[in-house]
Amino acid sequence: MKIRLGLDIGGTTVHGIAVTAHEPHDIVTEATHPTRKGADGVVAVALDMVTALRSALPADAEIVSIGLGVPGIVHGGAVTHAVNLGLDGNPLELAAAVSAGTGGTPTTVENDVKAATLGGLQWLREHGSDVDDLALLNVGTGIAAGLLLDGRLRHGSRGMAGEIGHLVHDPTGPLCPCGRRGCLELYASGSGVRRQWAGTAAELFDAADAGDLDAVRIRDELTSGIAQAISLLAYSVDVTCVLVTGGVVSATPALRDAILHKLRSDENTSLGRLAGIAERVRWLPAGHPAGALGAALLGAGDEEAGSWRS
Ligand SMILES: [Zn+2]
Repeated sequence: MKIRLGLDIGGTTVHGIAVTAHEPHDIVTEATHPTRKGADGVVAVALDMVTALRSALPADAEIVSIGLGVPGIVHGGAVTHAVNLGLDGNPLELAAAVSAGTGGTPTTVENDVKAATLGGLQWLREHGSDVDDLALLNVGTGIAAGLLLDGRLRHGSRGMAGEIGHLVHDPTGPLCPCGRRGCLELYASGSGVRRQWAGTAAELFDAADAGDLDAVRIRDELTSGIAQAISLLAYSVDVTCVLVTGGVVSATPALRDAILHKLRSDENTSLGRLAGIAERVRWLPAGHPAGALGAALLGAGDEEAGSWRS
C-alpha cells in the first residue's frame, strides 16, 4: 500500500495524517503531538511524527512522500518567517532535513494555508464541486488565503501569494505588530477580536444583539473585514469558490449569516450582481483536517493528471 504523509505544524500542535497515495486519498491513520519550537525542535517534532505515523501503518505500507505545512513564509523549500514556531530570521531547510532524516523520502514544505487549500479542494470534490480554482480564506489567529488557480497552487514569486492580513484596512487604526497601522488582521481575525473583546465570538454577537455599542462596533468591523477579504479574492483572481475556514467563522453561525448579508448588500449594483460574490462562498466544516490532508497531497500533484501542480 502506497502512503503519503502530511504534517500540519501549528504554533501549539502538530497534526499528522497518513492517506492512500492515490484518489480518493483515504485517511489510514492520524496523530497529534505538541509542537516544539526553534529549528532543532521543529525538525525533531516532524521526524517524531513521521515515526509515530509509520508505526501505526500496516506492515506492507510504503511511504512515497511527506508534505509539511508550516505557519510562515516558505520559499524554495526553506522556511523563513515563522514567528509562532520560533523561526524568525535564518532560513530553515526543513524539507531537506526531514528528507535526510527519513532515508531520502521525497519531502515538500509549504505555507500551511496554501497546503490547506489542497485539502479544501479535496473536500469540495468529495461534495460534488468539480472546481479547479478556489481561494481558501483562513480566519484564525490571523487572516490569510491560499490560491489554487486553473488547477495550480499559486505559491508566488516570494512565497507571499494570498498573504492579505497586513493590507491596511484603516490607516488611522491602531499600530500592528508588523509596524503598520490598521491592518486587516487587527479587525478580521481571532487576535483582532481578542484585542478588543474578552469573551467568545458567540458572546460578542449576543452582546451586540442586546445593544452593547462596543460589541456592535467590533462585530461590524469583524464582519465587514472578512467580507472585504472575500471580495478582494473574488475580484482580484475571480475564483469560482471562496472556501472559508478557521476557528473564528466556525464559532457562530451568526457571523456566517452576517458575512453573507454584507456580501449580498453589495449586489444591488449591476457590477455587484455580475460578480455574485455571496454565491461563491462555501464554509469548510469545523474540524476538517484540511491542513494535514493538504500537506499530504503536496506530493501527489505530478502524478495525477488533471489534478493540481505546485
Ligand atoms: Zn500588520
